[in-house]
Amino acid sequence: MNDLPTFIPDPGPKVGSAARRGHIVVTGGAGFIGSNLCDRLVRSGEYVVCIDNLETGRMENIAHLIGHPGFGFFLHDIVHPFDVKGPVAQIYNLACAASPPKYQLHPVHTFKTSVIGAINLLELAGRKGARILQSSTSEVYGDPDISPQREDYRGLVNTVGPRSCYDEGKRASETLFHDFHLRRNTDVRIARIFNTYGPRMDPEDGRVISNFSVQALSGLPLTVYGDGKQTRSLCYIDDMLDGLIALMNTDTAGPDPVNLGNPGEYTVLQVAGMILELSGSASHIVHRELPRDDPHQRCPDIGRANRLLGWAPKVSLREGLGPTLAYFREEILRNARTKER
Ligand code: NAD
Ligand code: UDP
Repeated sequence: MNDLPTFIPDPGPKVGSAARRGHIVVTGGAGFIGSNLCDRLVRSGEYVVCIDNLETGRMENIAHLIGHPGFGFFLHDIVHPFDVKGPVAQIYNLACAASPPKYQLHPVHTFKTSVIGAINLLELAGRKGARILQSSTSEVYGDPDISPQREDYRGLVNTVGPRSCYDEGKRASETLFHDFHLRRNTDVRIARIFNTYGPRMDPEDGRVISNFSVQALSGLPLTVYGDGKQTRSLCYIDDMLDGLIALMNTDTAGPDPVNLGNPGEYTVLQVAGMILELSGSASHIVHRELPRDDPHQRCPDIGRANRLLGWAPKVSLREGLGPTLAYFREEILRNARTKER
């Protein structure tokens, strides 16, 4: 193992519970969910080793943490094996582009990230005796023919469509996590994350909340794909972090997948209407072609998360859109200032 690139964290003051046993590795830590998670963990006194290849992540998401004694950033692609010097207590594997237009740009690399990246991280977890949490996705259910989706629903997924690199990659990663647990007793957790939104989303990542928010705040038409009657259940970032951290730290969850998401279900048209109302925008709606294999319906059954973790989201879509729109307003101003210079 000596020939692996090895990241050497600079252990700062440690007060957190995991820190007493080792560092916390967050892959994808410069992305939307990852950077918010790094903040939470550093704030609670953990030492975070953030690993990201900046494919969709942004340095500005973590710029405020650089130089913090509880944080180290390492530029690396998890498709290539690596090691971390010193003890590691927990690994959150969040590395993978999540926006459909982004993960479809380099489909083979997206698949490798989920599969080869997962193997590399599971090997790291094994070497360190760390607990490892995989950020799986509601996409493992594909275009579901039942709703809400419970963890025992096996999904309806196309193996050869534009979304397959992501959906099938995440499905394969769940298999790997399951088998490493079974054969090597690796301590794994699998979170099936449903659509999540909030501050630190990339304004240009092409997802529904980022597109509609930027369009509404810039006076541009909101691009509704298809008739807009397809549904999504949208979870605010703070609720998602509570769920992920609870799942990582519970001893009762075991290796079976757990849905994390907000069961409040909205059509895309309803989301557009709410964003127009809350932003006070005079933009209108235009319809664009529905992307191939776009799921018609998405709604989590969160009974298992509730039973195991006592977790349920607290923030409604209307409440969560407030800080989200404020964030995008700031991002638009910041970008305008950068262009002026
Ligand atoms: P994001 O694109 O903002 O963040 C992903 C991060 O992973 C980025 O910083 C990117 O640069 C990094 N990354 C990608 N491939 C990598 C690689 N090979 N090596 C190292 N770093 C790599 O996306 P997000 O919304 O923050 O999603 C985080 C995780 O949660 C992803 O695994 C995603 O599949 C999962 N997830 C997110 C949602 C959601 O709605 N946001 C829903 C379901 C699942
Ligand atoms: N969508 C839309 N307009 C946009 C972006 C997305 O109508 O500008 C729709 C998209 O077709 C899908 C839903 O919003 O039905 C959620 O899309 P997103 O890319 O955020 O995530 P997905 O759940 O599809 O992975």
